[in-house]
Amino acid sequence: MGGPLRQHAPVVTAEDLVGCTCGGEHPTPAVTLYSGGDACRVLAEDCSAWYGKQPVLLISDPETDLVGGKTLRAALSRQGVNLHHYALETNPSATDTLVAKIEAASRDKKLIISVGSGTINDLGKFAADRNGIDYWTMPTAPSMNGYTSSIAAIKLKGVKRTLPAAPPKRIYVVPQEIQDAPLKLRQAGFCDVLAKVVSDIDWQCESLLCSGSYCGLPAALMATVEKTYAEHAEEIGHGDETAVMGLFNGLLLSGVAMSLAGSSAPASGGEHLVSHFWDMRETLTGREAELHGLQVGVGIILSTACYQRLAQLDGGDLKPLGLQQFTATAERIPKLWGEYAAEVEKQFLGKREVLLAFDQRLPDTWERLQPLFRQVRPPEYFVNLFMRTGAPFTLDAFRLSAEEFRLAARNARAIRERITVLDLAAHAGVLDDATEHALQLLS
Ligand SMILES: [Zn+2]
Ligand SMILES: [Zn+2]
Repeated sequence: MGGPLRQHAPVVTAEDLVGCTCGGEHPTPAVTLYSGGDACRVLAEDCSAWYGKQPVLLISDPETDLVGGKTLRAALSRQGVNLHHYALETNPSATDTLVAKIEAASRDKKLIISVGSGTINDLGKFAADRNGIDYWTMPTAPSMNGYTSSIAAIKLKGVKRTLPAAPPKRIYVVPQEIQDAPLKLRQAGFCDVLAKVVSDIDWQCESLLCSGSYCGLPAALMATVEKTYAEHAEEIGHGDETAVMGLFNGLLLSGVAMSLAGSSAPASGGEHLVSHFWDMRETLTGREAELHGLQVGVGIILSTACYQRLAQLDGGDLKPLGLQQFTATAERIPKLWGEYAAEVEKQFLGKREVLLAFDQRLPDTWERLQPLFRQVRPPEYFVNLFMRTGAPFTLDAFRLSAEEFRLAARNARAIRERITVLDLAAHAGVLDDATEHALQLLS
């Protein structure tokens, strides 16, 4: 054991952070990345150098154990690391119950290392944060943008929440593993990173209408790398090294963008709410949730269909639908959510006043909102782009019925306090039309 305390390159440096429009502070997240075929050995040596004989917990599931977990555990053992393993079951779900178990298992440890992607990261990151211990991660797929983010998506009392959790200090990646990840996982990451094209507009609209909190820095950061993946659907589908690693890098920066903003707003708008909606419905409908990124991709089609209609709408035609829209949506909560209804109600009530004020705010702000609506590409563009990865992009492929899609479109806005395009579309009276349009494209 022992050895030099190696430092690796930061994912972003202060020089990368150009384009702030809010005048606020944006501390650079201190996440470093080591990328190389020998990442397992390097991680193990670093771990031994930092922690010596202090206990370390590694979490993985059977799938990620085959990708890098076993190799990493062997490398850690060779370095004499005091290693404990938490073996998750296949397809773990980030629930409060599972979090509590990992929290308990890591209480006396100095470091958690996650080997995996979405859920495994959320679990490791959140448990480490709760125990105030260090967190490192070894991503196994370019499937979502949470690796570098300062939040974790956890189901609390059945309601999907994004909770604060410190990002990993160190990320170690074997490029070949990322490149060889199953096509579906690559397609999911492609959708998740592209969500920014709608979520950033959602945030700008919300900022104009309510909070004034928008900052251009996260979008500016993403713009520097977009070219490497945005137009390369086929190459990502084929597993082309440059395109897939471009995508992976885009996902890392997208997570950083959220940390910079101090919220998930730059990368999570209405398109994410429908995904959270289906995750939450899992226990009620028995439908096992699809990959986060793919559900988000479906959400992108809905959001862009909403923007298309909003762009065509004349401000003078807006009707004061505030109370009617709020009441109708609120009334559906008990039947839709059963035992989770009280939690959902709390979230939706949190934005009641803002939504009622839309009667006045929407027409007043319409002229400044319209140019934003028009910036968004049509839903046809995105359906086509996602299909070009070579994997199907239909509701059928994601085991979603037309009915479950309609339910999400009409009700997902109730599960979270954040104002998104789904609220705008509902209160402008175009949500149902947009839903039917998106449905046609996804059938
Ligand atoms: Zn700023
Ligand atoms: Zn996402």
